[in-house]
Amino acid sequence: MSNIRSSFKSQGTATSESDRDTYKLRGLMPAVVESLEKQVARAFEQLRSKSSDLEKYIFLAWLRNTNTRLFYKMVMSSPEELMPLIYTPTVGAACVNYSHIYPFLAPNGSFDGLFISIDDIPVLDQLIENYKNALPDSTLTPDISVITDGSRILGLGDLGVGGMGIPVGKLQLYVAAAGLDPRKTLPICLDFGTNNQKNLEDPLYLGLRRKRPEGDEFHQAVDSVLATLNKAFPKMLIQFEDFSSEHAFELLERHRNRYLSFNDDIQGTGAVILSGFINAVREVGIPAKQHKLLFFGAGSAGVGVAKQIMDYFVLEHGMTEEEAKKLFWLNDSKGLVTHDRGDKLAQHKVYFAREDNEGQQYKSLKETIEHVRPTALIGLSSQGGVFDEEVLKLLSEINERPIVFPLSNPATQAECSFEQAMIHTKGKVLFASGTAFPRYVDEHKQEHVPGQGNNMYIFPGLGLGAILSRPSRITDTIIYASAAALADSLTEDERKSHLLYPRIDRIREVSAVVAAAVCRQAVKENLATEPWILSILPSGASTEVGSPAWEELLKYVETNMWEPSYKAIN
Ligand code: NAD
Repeated sequence: MSNIRSSFKSQGTATSESDRDTYKLRGLMPAVVESLEKQVARAFEQLRSKSSDLEKYIFLAWLRNTNTRLFYKMVMSSPEELMPLIYTPTVGAACVNYSHIYPFLAPNGSFDGLFISIDDIPVLDQLIENYKNALPDSTLTPDISVITDGSRILGLGDLGVGGMGIPVGKLQLYVAAAGLDPRKTLPICLDFGTNNQKNLEDPLYLGLRRKRPEGDEFHQAVDSVLATLNKAFPKMLIQFEDFSSEHAFELLERHRNRYLSFNDDIQGTGAVILSGFINAVREVGIPAKQHKLLFFGAGSAGVGVAKQIMDYFVLEHGMTEEEAKKLFWLNDSKGLVTHDRGDKLAQHKVYFAREDNEGQQYKSLKETIEHVRPTALIGLSSQGGVFDEEVLKLLSEINERPIVFPLSNPATQAECSFEQAMIHTKGKVLFASGTAFPRYVDEHKQEHVPGQGNNMYIFPGLGLGAILSRPSRITDTIIYASAAALADSLTEDERKSHLLYPRIDRIREVSAVVAAAVCRQAVKENLATEPWILSILPSGASTEVGSPAWEELLKYVETNMWEPSYKAIN
């Protein structure tokens, strides 16, 4: 009875006449009984009356913590309007200001997730107990946790405890895009201190005021947290998010075979770009093996994405690793990455360093393009505008359909805009960016939609598939399967419109396909541990898209996707 006012059970003015009597609510609200749709309309009216995006963020957080189902109904009825408010770009401002807005995000008694300070690690069992006791329904254990330590939040750096906005926001996207049950999502912020002087000097800062631990101390603390979480919730999927680059790679390698886990910044990004590339190759129409990829930017993102795309040539086109590697050229701030350039290459660049440059070094992007004659130019350099008119014209002289992916974020750091790419290639470009660019209307008034390599096409479906099939670990080939499924999910109409990614309003449909492909791959690799899946996919049966087993699998996935409705009070 006491839970009736919890954020999940609350129906506000939609509470039925009979429930008002049963739960003794008559008189505690206006007499009119409304529909969920009417409540959504009112909530939109309030939302749109706010003058800044941060105010809208605060209103939406309050709404989520007051009436969860109304909040998600709103998000799902207008994802294009709401997603930028609950996640990027608005969540960046929310994280920066987190210590200043925190008390206004959740009404008394509600909470957004678990804050684990490094000092609390010895009493972590107790924290988890407190969390369970505070849930409206303690029988619902979390299916997924998104964990950050706030050390590299988006492009904003170390925001300490303000990083909590990211797991909270990201899990909302899992719910909206893939139908995870919001009651079974656990955002976690590890408060290990902050190296950001601004935080340390802010009198309202809510995190620990000390420098972050490094090396073994950092890893031992994370090890303890993960071990305790695993003991409490052995089936829970863990998604690492926005750790500093150095720790992100280390954590993934250290834990990916111990716990069901993945890192979206590394694996999700790689998969989503790979998927756009597969569709671009299909559009270009020349044999895959004739492609040459030039990466401008050889940092963790550049090398990570290049390695993921390499899998495509190996797994789909039968190339050896050595053959596939030769299709890749990397360019960093010193020019083309070669073995004999004369500087000591950072370890992660060595793998792709060229040996066929015959002693010649190429400094500028134009020189490198003339040398390589790439079919695809991929920007992960944070150098806004470097894919200029000259570069784009050069690419379209070399290629009938140049592939140009300026992936750096935010828009000011993107290597070129969609409009520039369209104008300077005379509309021939196959384009995907990291940030959202407006549509382009050409001189014939024809509208063109830019591709956006948005991780949201992958992580919700990957997470749902992993939760439903529970593989003992998430392998590179499971990640690859998610990317291939995304590439194949384009409709006939989307292909005719030359899109590289599906329209975002089909995100739930797409997430279901990605999730089903993840389940299928987990079975194929003998890693799935959930018994239901083996009855749907008996060994030996065809699981091709369209086969009866595939259709049954897809149906199973779809029926396990949560939808916001007021079917019953609980
Ligand atoms: P990073 O700092 O590790 O790497 C940057 C790379 O760019 C380095 O290799 C550097 O040498 C190179 N570079 C810098 N200046 C250059 C210049 N003038 N000429 C040539 N190369 C130059 O950063 P990162 O983590 O690899 O991220 C790079 C970019 O990728 C960021 O803008 C980030 O937002 C973006 N990114 C996008 C996505 C996505 O689209 N989903 C995902 C991850 C990262």
